[in-house]
Order: sequence, then C-alpha cells, then structure tokens
Amino acid sequence: PTGSSAFEYEAEVHKMLDIVVNSLYTNKDVFLRELISNASDALDKIRFLSVTKPELLDSKKELEVKIEYDPDNKTLTIRDTGIGMTKDDLIKNLGTVARSGTTNFVKALGDGAADVSMIGMFGVGFYSTFLVADRVTVASKSNDDDTQHIWESLNGEASFHVGPDPRGNTLGRGTEITLHLKEDAEEYLSPYKLKEMIRHYSEFVTHPVYLREIKTAKIPKEKEEDDESKEDSDDIDEVEEEKEPEMEEVTTFEYEHINTDPAIWARDKDEITDEEYQEFWKVVSKEGGKAADWAHFNAEGNINFRSILYLPNDVPFALQQGRPDEVKPGLRLYVRKVLISDEFDLMPRYLSFIKGVVDSDDLPLNVNRETLQESKIIKIIKKKLVRKALETIRNLANKKMEDDETEEAEIDADGNAIVKEDKPKKVHHYVEWYKKFGLSLKMGCIDDPANKDKLQKLLRFKSSKTNGDDEYVSLQEYVDRMKDWQKEIYVFPGETMKQMKTSSFMDMFYEKDIEVLFLTDAIDEYWLQHSREFEGKKYRDITKEGVKFSDEDEDLAKRRNKIYNDKFKPLTKFLKKLFGSDVTKVTISKRLGKAPAIVSASEWGNSANMDRIMRAQAF
Ligand code: ADP
Ligand code: MG
Repeated sequence: PTGSSAFEYEAEVHKMLDIVVNSLYTNKDVFLRELISNASDALDKIRFLSVTKPELLDSKKELEVKIEYDPDNKTLTIRDTGIGMTKDDLIKNLGTVARSGTTNFVKALGDGAADVSMIGMFGVGFYSTFLVADRVTVASKSNDDDTQHIWESLNGEASFHVGPDPRGNTLGRGTEITLHLKEDAEEYLSPYKLKEMIRHYSEFVTHPVYLREIKTAKIPKEKEEDDESKEDSDDIDEVEEEKEPEMEEVTTFEYEHINTDPAIWARDKDEITDEEYQEFWKVVSKEGGKAADWAHFNAEGNINFRSILYLPNDVPFALQQGRPDEVKPGLRLYVRKVLISDEFDLMPRYLSFIKGVVDSDDLPLNVNRETLQESKIIKIIKKKLVRKALETIRNLANKKMEDDETEEAEIDADGNAIVKEDKPKKVHHYVEWYKKFGLSLKMGCIDDPANKDKLQKLLRFKSSKTNGDDEYVSLQEYVDRMKDWQKEIYVFPGETMKQMKTSSFMDMFYEKDIEVLFLTDAIDEYWLQHSREFEGKKYRDITKEGVKFSDEDEDLAKRRNKIYNDKFKPLTKFLKKLFGSDVTKVTISKRLGKAPAIVSASEWGNSANMDRIMRAQAF
C-alpha cells in the first residue's frame, strides 16, 4: 500500500521461511491451528488486562474470532478482537526480531528431529501461513497505536512491507490476517473442510470462534412496472393461475459458532473420551506425542478448583534435544475463565514434566501474576496438586498390564496348540515410563522431604534377583521378600550392572540368597542420604563397612571374631604398616565369601562410587 516501507526479514527468519515455503510437507492444515492459537493468545491478553482496566475494551467490546472464506478472490481471513499490534509490533513480531526458537527449528528440521507441523513449538507458528498462501496480509489495530497498520509479504521474498491501512480503522481493535491462497491450497475454501478444521483446532479455545458461511437463497423477484399493461391484454382463454413468482438468487452470510462446547475441564469426566483428553494434552503440553495418563478432578474445601493433570509419555522435546533451559515448567491457570498464564508455576521443579490446567474461582483477579504466585491460596493449591500428581503416578504404577487379547490358540495337525516363541514380552507401561522419569522422582526424594515416603514407593530398581532389562523391583516388593531376620535394605551403588553382579561384595549375599538393589544413577547416593530409610528399614550400602548378617547367633559370632582377630593380628598389623595412610584400618571381615580380602569404604565416608561421581563432576 501507499506510504508503506519495506523491511528486511532477520536473516535466520528468512532462512526458516525459505525452508517452510519450499518444504514438501503435505499436512498444511497446521497453519489454521497456529492462526487460531495466535488469535486466542491475543484475546487472552486483552481479557487479562481488562480485568483491572475495563476501559481497554471500549475500542471493541466483543472478544471473538471470525473466520471468512471468499471463493471469488481465493482468500481466507482470520479476524480476532484481541490485543492487536502497533506498527512497531508488526515489524518486530512478524519479521525483524528472530526468536530463540528460529535457529533451533531450522536445525531440528535439518536433523530430521522435527517436522513442519511442530513449528508452533518453536515460537514461529505464524510463518506456517506460507505453506498455503503466496501473499499474506496482516491488518492490526492496537489500543496503543492511533492508526491501523498493514503488514504484507509475498511468498519467498526477503522483505515485507508495513504501512497505514488505506481503509482506516476498520477493526476497532484486533488483528485481521488475510491469506491469498496458493492454487494447490484452494481446498481451504470449502466450508466443509474449514468447519471440520476449525472444530478441531478451536475445541479448547475459550473464546467463541465463528465461521462465516456463504448461503445462497432464492427470494421472489421484485415485480416489474410493466406488469399492469400485461394484465390489460389478458385473453379470456388463458386460464388465470396464480402465477409462480419469478425467483432470484441472492447471497447471504451467516456466522456459525463452531466451538460451542464448554472447556473440557469444566465438563463431566464421564462424558469425555480418551481421544479428547489426548487432544487437550497436545494443547497444554505444546508437544506432540501422547499423555501416559491423567487425572481430572474437582478439589473442594476452603479453596475450590478444577484441574486436569497429565503425565507425559515422553521426555519434553527440548530436553531430548539437550536444551533443558527451554523446558517450561508450569500449568495453565484460569481464574473465572480468564487465562492468567499458560505457564504458571504450580509444580515443584522435580515435577515440572507435569502439564495441565487449573481453573479456580477463588483466586483474586485484580492482582498481578507475581503477587498471585506468592498468595496463600496458590500455596494451598500447589500442595493439593503435588499430592494429586503423585497419586496419578501411583495409579499408573498400579495399573494392570493390558491383558493380551485372548487369541485363539492355533492348533497343529496333531491337535496340539502351537506355542509362538517370538511373541514380544510385554513391558509394564510404568516400567517404560519409569525409565524416562525415574530420575525426577529421585530428585523429589531430595527436594521434597514432606513427600519422600510417597516418592520412594514410586521408585523401581534392578536387583540381584531381577532379570533382563525390563524387570524391576519396588521397595515394597523388596521388603516383602526380605529374610525374616533381615533388618536393612541392602544397596550397591556402582557403575555398571556387570561390575556389580560379579563383584566380591556380592559373594556373601549370593551365598545367603539375600537380595541387593543395584544403583547406577549418579543421583542415587544423594537421595539415599536424604531418605535414609523406607518403612523403618535403613538402607545399608554393601560397599561400606558395617555390613552384619544377624542370621547367626550373636554370641557365637562375637567369640569367633575375637579368635580370628587375635590369630591374624600379625597379618593385619603388617598390612596396615604396608598400606600406611592409604587405608583407615585393616580388620578381619565378617562378610567375605570367595575373595580373600576386600577394600570397603568407611560407614560414614563416601563410597567408592560416590568418589567416582564426584571426580566426574569435579566437585
Ligand atoms: P508465538 O505465537 O509462539 O509467539 P508466532 O509466530 O505464532 O509465535 O507469533 C509471533 C508473534 O506475533 C506473537 O508472539 C505475537 O506477539 C504476534 N502475533 C501473532 N498473531 C497475533 C495476533 N492475532 N494478535 C496479536 N499479536 C499476534
Ligand atoms: Mg503462535
């Protein structure tokens, strides 16, 4: 438009645009998801601000999204009455300022770690419009700018244009995005296709989303002036029937409200399908993949709130990619339908993988987020959420393995059932899940002393009695199968399973058939130090001194030790002299099997494994 100026895209942005435009990615529907999500964000922002400043809505009262298609001009328009953008915002947000995600997205696309549909996760969803449009126009009006401006860009060009909208202020407030569709994207002019997509992508949007449908109607044509002269020339033989009025086709427009269902968390959980929960998971997690499980509940008491908490199936994408800083903790928090934040800090760090939504009417709206974060009510909500989160994990752990579908046994010629050998062994989903999230639970044993009992129940271990990669034992199971005389839980922190299994430390345990838990995580000894015991049973590190087997007569053992000590005094003395300050003491062992001697750590000092870990971390 006249009076507009050209701006160069920031280099990374242009590079990314180039890739998106030329990508052969076939599922182009995602552009609508991104535009609806941006419109919804913009509406959330103005609604949040208007709580304390209602006059902000004077520029436009309704909070809504309207979508229109125009088959003649081959355009699709998405208009919201959200917060809008100033001229400056248009320039920065849509072109000149590269977001941190831009480079990562380009890289992930190159590595094959991401595909185009994940564009929204990287904070550059707007550019997905170029999947379907060769020209994109954005008109926007913000309360902070007297003039409505237009941003315009042609597919693949290295620059875009921004200038005042020649139509003036048509929006009042908000943003209108017009896509001039590519020839191969004209399917998006079909009202059926659009309705289906909008229904899908706006299901969880809390503002109304409308589609303007084009209707053609036949209405009677207006009578013409010369009708009367006709009447004069009536012939008698002409049977005077009620003449069919001449009809005329006119085009009318009708807005249809597409997302009429209330928010999923406000609905009755018995009426929500697993698929719907999984769809909502995608919205709150901003990740692909699936949820492993969820809890949908209503907390009642002094403070009431509704919530859905999700356990993810997979470690967050950014973490898989080695960028832990980009993993955003937090849940979506609504207060009286107003979205306060989609990343509100409601979970302790160790549970930051839990995503979901919390909606409460009991929180004050007229305070800022920081004050709210510190409020007493939030503290109470947090506590309840943690309890519920741990309960959800416990439920996953207690879930029965889905029964193998009762297959009809195949029968061979002799009438015997054929046993299929190569049937893959089923792994309990909690074991699968635990392999990915167990470290977080161990971190919880350190960070959240109040819940350490609950957390320890969720831990799983490899032991001297488990087999293969997928068999794990819980502490409860360990305790249940302890020897009658056994008072402690024996643990072996080490580097590799092979090393531990064949270590001389194990001799006596194998001989006496005592189970030992093998610990290979660097964090193991830290949480052990914090937890100390489980159900009254102390942990005992078998690589340290102090391991006693109380299955023998204590007097007998004492007397025997005394005799041995005296008998071997010359040897122990000699060895102490030989090793000097390299060892603290040399004693007669009470727990050796085949090995003649063993180097163990002192009971209160670091284990050898801890020393190894600390060296590796250069503490
Ligand atoms: P993201 O939504 O993850 O921030 P996008 O590429 O989708 O990334 O959008 C970039 C930015 O452009 C948004 O953060 C927002 O500031 C601005 N924006 C996009 N669409 C709108 C809109 N409809 N109303 C107001 N601002 C918008
Ligand atoms: Mg977006």
